[in-house]
Amino acid sequence: MNTKYSVLEKYFGYTSFLPHQEEIVDAVLSGRDVLAVMATGGGKSLCYQLPALVFGGLTVVVSPLIALMKDQVDSLRANGIPAATINSSLGYGEQKIVERVILEGRIRILYVSPERAVQPFFLSLIAKADVRLIAIDEAHCISMWGHNFRPEYRRLRMLKERFPAVPVIALTATAIPAVQNDIAVELALSNPVRFVGSFNRKNLTYRVVPKARYFPRLVAYLTEHPNDAGIIYCFSQKATEELAKKLQDKGFSALPYHAGLPDSVRAEHQEAFSRGDVAIICATVAFGMGIDKPDVRFVIHTDLPKDIESYYQETGRAGRDGEPGDCILFYSRGDYGTIRYIIEKECTDATQKDVAYRKVGMMLDYCETTGCRRKFLLAYFGESYPEERCGGCDRCETPVKVFDGTEAASLVITCVHETGEQFGASYIADVLTGSKSNRIRENGHDRIPAYGSGRGYTRDQWLLFIQEMVGKGFVTSTGGRYPVLVSNDRSRAVLAGEIAVPLAEPRPDGVVAARVENDYDEALFLRLRQLRKVVADLDRVPPFVVFHDRTLKEMATSYPGTGVALLGIYGVSEAKLKRYGRRFLDAIEKHCAEHGIGPEQRSG
Ligand code: ADP
Ligand code: ZN
Repeated sequence: MNTKYSVLEKYFGYTSFLPHQEEIVDAVLSGRDVLAVMATGGGKSLCYQLPALVFGGLTVVVSPLIALMKDQVDSLRANGIPAATINSSLGYGEQKIVERVILEGRIRILYVSPERAVQPFFLSLIAKADVRLIAIDEAHCISMWGHNFRPEYRRLRMLKERFPAVPVIALTATAIPAVQNDIAVELALSNPVRFVGSFNRKNLTYRVVPKARYFPRLVAYLTEHPNDAGIIYCFSQKATEELAKKLQDKGFSALPYHAGLPDSVRAEHQEAFSRGDVAIICATVAFGMGIDKPDVRFVIHTDLPKDIESYYQETGRAGRDGEPGDCILFYSRGDYGTIRYIIEKECTDATQKDVAYRKVGMMLDYCETTGCRRKFLLAYFGESYPEERCGGCDRCETPVKVFDGTEAASLVITCVHETGEQFGASYIADVLTGSKSNRIRENGHDRIPAYGSGRGYTRDQWLLFIQEMVGKGFVTSTGGRYPVLVSNDRSRAVLAGEIAVPLAEPRPDGVVAARVENDYDEALFLRLRQLRKVVADLDRVPPFVVFHDRTLKEMATSYPGTGVALLGIYGVSEAKLKRYGRRFLDAIEKHCAEHGIGPEQRSG
């Protein structure tokens, strides 16, 4: 009998469920409609793929992007699951073949685009098949509150109307409750069971690093992570090209990606990234939907994102396979100006503008927070993180040291005072560090005592001090679009020497991320990766369709010597054992012989 556990092992090569997966699978198997909200990498696909195998018959999956469908179908087939897709990329002949095998009951999982799913022809086709389950992937596309509204998703309620007895599962990674409600209503789900998982991405680490002269530090990071794939987000199209070029000159494998490139070039660069032919993509935010590469090891932002939603979504593309991922943001308050320019240009309506300013304000707060970054991000999405420190962000790894900042604070207050209480933080920091800007000269502020009085710290450090002083009420920010600093009672008390000002100690900004020691055999891992690339190219699929990194790492830990031992490894299904087992066992064998690794160290 095909119980859920035997299906899990046989077809997917896993021995247990991820959080929520089992409850979701149970609800689907009991015939209920389900709304599943799980973070990226939470394992949503399995929630309908596994029931599809237990149910038999046909499961129809609506998915927004052809590129994603293709990878999903390839992955399913590699696991011996009959899957297909019907979309506009198929020729007439191919489409007829797919239709025939559907009617013969030989397809278990069928992927279609939302446009296709509601066509009368398609509906009557699947009415003749034995449809047991309908899955709507990326279901937030149905909602205008979400970030990828697709009007054609609105018509999908037709599926429920046409097949009222077939359970529907809607899946999304979007956190906002308004979107969840929209999904349930717009798809006409009947009394759906809702599962909302945690949005915490445990395997990701978060770091914010000062942006000044970031390039050498970026190079240092990339040099320390030579075998890793990653995305570097830049604000402008030009910046992506320049950065890609500079990295190529340094010997890195990097390509640009942005909306200004011809479609064919864009597709080619994305494909090269997905196939592992190029390691680094320097991209604008146009690089997003359509990447489901699970082994992205880092997501770096060289410019400030416009809001936390975008930032979380972009960093969320790291580590979908559950392996570690680094999220690094090079931060300078100066980037705020660029975003302000965009907001002024693009937002016509006043409320819209206000919302945009409030959102970028939160992004600045994130960068400047002295507390745990993860806690901050989760709190933004309404989730409370139970621990004080997460251990996976720069704030928690090296907790902030507090020093007596009274002297520094006095310089800030004096400068605010001497410049007439009519300037914002950036200007004050410029005056303190003795900037040569015209504006300062024109205002005559290069002749006041405060000018250059703070050269002991950098401009970015002053900005952090000021932010903290505002937060603690030692100086007041008037808020609004162009916030101005003004002194208050506490400022006067500081100058009078009546109160002290504790501030967070500036930290050295050299090291981007600590290197983690591997506990697997790295030489074998690299060898297996090479083999995987060869095998994947032969099969014309991306490497992750063959095996995920975690699978190779487990092989490079237990050195399996037999097929049975290989089956015991994460992600090795029966179909993959048959197809790839011999070649991987041979490679492991050879490596063990060359390195004198004996049977006592090996499994199987
Ligand atoms: P999502 O669509 O939610 O982002 P995926 O369905 O792509 O997530 O799954 C994320 C990763 O988790 C994939 O690498 C997948 O192979 C893995 N995965 C899914 N289910 C399990 C499980 N039960 N045990 C171990 N790994 C799993
Ligand atoms: Zn933390």
